[in-house]
Amino acid sequence: MKRVAALTCAFVLAYILAEVTPVQATPPGHGAGKLVSPEQAQGMLEQGNDRYVRGRQIHPNRDARRRKAIAQAQHPFAIILGCADSRVAPEVLFDRGQGDLFVVRNAGNVVDDVVLASIEYAAEHLGSTLVVVLGHERCGAVTAAASGGEAPGHLPAFFGAIQPSVEKARGMEGELVENVMRLNVQEMVGQIRDSEPVLRHRVQEGRLKVVGARYDLDTGEVRFLP
Ligand SMILES: [Zn+2]
Repeated sequence: MKRVAALTCAFVLAYILAEVTPVQATPPGHGAGKLVSPEQAQGMLEQGNDRYVRGRQIHPNRDARRRKAIAQAQHPFAIILGCADSRVAPEVLFDRGQGDLFVVRNAGNVVDDVVLASIEYAAEHLGSTLVVVLGHERCGAVTAAASGGEAPGHLPAFFGAIQPSVEKARGMEGELVENVMRLNVQEMVGQIRDSEPVLRHRVQEGRLKVVGARYDLDTGEVRFLP
């Protein structure tokens, strides 16, 4: 009888604890993952890009074994917000494979609510600790926004996002498109860092780092921006 009472007690206690303990809403198969610090994550990207530039790629995590290993859960160590440009594929230029990078791409690597939601998802539920906003030289989206004029169709959606950087770049020394690209990356980094309530909080706690970077189409080099 005592045993039954003890078991009942334990059951009730476990139930109460489960009720009052805040549990993160993690979708099945998506745990916090292996924790890679933001600095480690950046180091892994830098090493991968170095291999790519030197033509010493190892093409990691692209075989059937990796596919099986990540079939039920993913733990990408970095989030990349990059341009949709066909020459700027993150897995290629960082020499990474399946399950390594959570990639969000659009023309001009701009931020909107859907992009922020995607980044929040990866940071909150997949354990990613680094966000890289990856701009690149001779960006068509930036060039189009910088040249102004009438924007047909849905183009105003990203023109509007890049426009503040175009205004800031006017009067600056140097090449307009290059300056707008850099300012636009900085602007998007700022918007991600300041995004309430999820991302800003994680940045302040040091659990998430947001950095800008520039990809060189000629050399393949990715330079992280200060
Ligand atoms: Zn581009």
